[in-house]
Amino acid sequence: MTADYLQELKTAIPAVSAAMLACRSVQSKIETEKLDKKDKSPVTVADFSSQAIVCRTLSKYLPDDQIIAEEDAAELRQPANAAFMQQVHAEVTSIMGSASTDDVLSWIDRGKIRPASQRFWTLDPIDGTKGFLRKEQYAVSLALIVDGVIQVAVLGCPNLPTVDDPDSVGGLFYAVRGQGAFALKGEISTPIHVSQTSHGEQARMCESVESGHSDHDQATMIAQQLGITKESRRLDSQAKYAVVARGEADMYLRLPTRADYVEKIWDHAGGVLVVEEAGGKVTDIAGKPLDFSLGHELRANRGVIVTNGLLHDAVLTACRTVLG
Ligand code: AMP
Ligand code: MG
Repeated sequence: MTADYLQELKTAIPAVSAAMLACRSVQSKIETEKLDKKDKSPVTVADFSSQAIVCRTLSKYLPDDQIIAEEDAAELRQPANAAFMQQVHAEVTSIMGSASTDDVLSWIDRGKIRPASQRFWTLDPIDGTKGFLRKEQYAVSLALIVDGVIQVAVLGCPNLPTVDDPDSVGGLFYAVRGQGAFALKGEISTPIHVSQTSHGEQARMCESVESGHSDHDQATMIAQQLGITKESRRLDSQAKYAVVARGEADMYLRLPTRADYVEKIWDHAGGVLVVEEAGGKVTDIAGKPLDFSLGHELRANRGVIVTNGLLHDAVLTACRTVLG
């Protein structure tokens, strides 16, 4: 690693690691069998706690940097949500040390900056909330964007199985533009690389669990066009980017389910740089690079196609055939 963005990386990694601890703590208290399907409260507590911790850490060490995060504290300030606030406060202070309720609220609100400045962080405090509630995959995704270009990414996947140790779960991935992508375990960083698969027949696809987030039927048709026979791996969150970056899947397709849906930058920025630095390629379904210079939304793009690079053109061709 060169000195470029070292200070940023040294701040972002502990920020995401601490947020992962809060998410794990909240998730360990979920009693899935008792949870009403409509009860989103555990994810709410974890979402706000994660955002408070990351924003606090960034603000402490990089006070001039702005943050565009998914949440803001307006809801949490309402008296009706005092019980939530208490839980968020307890989770955050158990990791960050003592702080007032107002401190925690103001840390969360550090992330509500819109529109984007020339240099800013973008954070999804919990990406894949449905996976979080099912005790499956979710991610904490943080990225630094400078002049519309992602320069630093840290992607925490607290439930992702470890490749060489099936008994342990949890992965933290990071990348700095031009410097490669790495998996961090304890103090040890290991470079990660996309697969070398160049033929559809050997390829594996991954996609969202939720068919409302990506069209499963169209993905099946694209897989047929490519000659893919392996079953798709379905998982929530930007953990899909990590799975492509470390070569376990060869592509991740996110195919629009609605004409009016615009992808959010925090749902992709962290994952995109990790895949690109691992040797992969990311575009939208038309083959255009994702444009991170337009504020908090990817307004110039539709859908997302992530591959190991070698399969990219073939996947785009199959998309054109199937999607028209
Ligand atoms: P995933 O876990 O990959 O299915 O994606 C989770 C993310 O999907 C959430 O963070 C939402 O912001 C996003 N999302 C919500 N609705 C849609 C939609 N209609 N199309 C694509 N993504 C969506
Ligand atoms: Mg998200």
